[in-house]
Amino acid sequence: MDKELNEKIIEINNLLIERFGIPPKNKRKPDPLDLLIATILSQNTNDKNSYKAFRQLKNEFPDYSLVKKAPLTKIKNAIKVAGLAEQKAKAIQNLIANLPGNNSSSPTLNFIKKMSNEEILSYLTNFKGIGVKTASCVLLFSLRRNVCPVDTHVHRTLNRMGAVQTKNPVATFEIINKNFPEGIAHSFHTNLIRLGREICLSNRPKCNLCPCRRICKFNEKNFSNSAEPQPKEFMLLDNV
Ligand code: SF4
Repeated sequence: MDKELNEKIIEINNLLIERFGIPPKNKRKPDPLDLLIATILSQNTNDKNSYKAFRQLKNEFPDYSLVKKAPLTKIKNAIKVAGLAEQKAKAIQNLIANLPGNNSSSPTLNFIKKMSNEEILSYLTNFKGIGVKTASCVLLFSLRRNVCPVDTHVHRTLNRMGAVQTKNPVATFEIINKNFPEGIAHSFHTNLIRLGREICLSNRPKCNLCPCRRICKFNEKNFSNSAEPQPKEFMLLDNV
């Protein structure tokens, strides 16, 4: 990462903390397999529905080894509240069926704890239905690595502010994570998502409420008097 981008990330992080505070972290480190499955369930839905689906899956299958041989319909029924049930059920079953181990022990991802960030990303993204964003959430939220996952909100807000000029979230991820400023990935990621959900909306951003408006380079800022948003503070991955 170049020095200029590094400084920009620190500046944005400070502005976001002034507005939203330091986001609370999960009190314990979630199990990496739990975290990965919760992140798969969170694709294209909101945190509340994916959390419900995750809890229902855990109730239905208290041990992940039961998922391996379960009929797909049973998995789909357990997670249907999160949407895309067929696709997500197949991704979860395929993941669990292909983890190393034997039939007598529960499937686990604990072995990735010894791997480098690059090794983990490469290993996890080889599974069908697991992309860079999903894999990098395991790095940040379960393994507490200083890595910033990039979803649609992080990608949009950073491009509007002019911190990056990229065409897709994977390109944004690669640029900002080359040498991410130490110790701030969790607050930066979490607060940027909050900015994207509550203020920097994709259609009509509420720039009059934005803590980053002074430094933002977006040409189509909207300064009409937008009302204060309702905070959407429940963050799935800090509650797994
Ligand atoms: S000033 Fe407007 S466009 Fe820029 S980051 Fe803030 S809300 Fe988004």
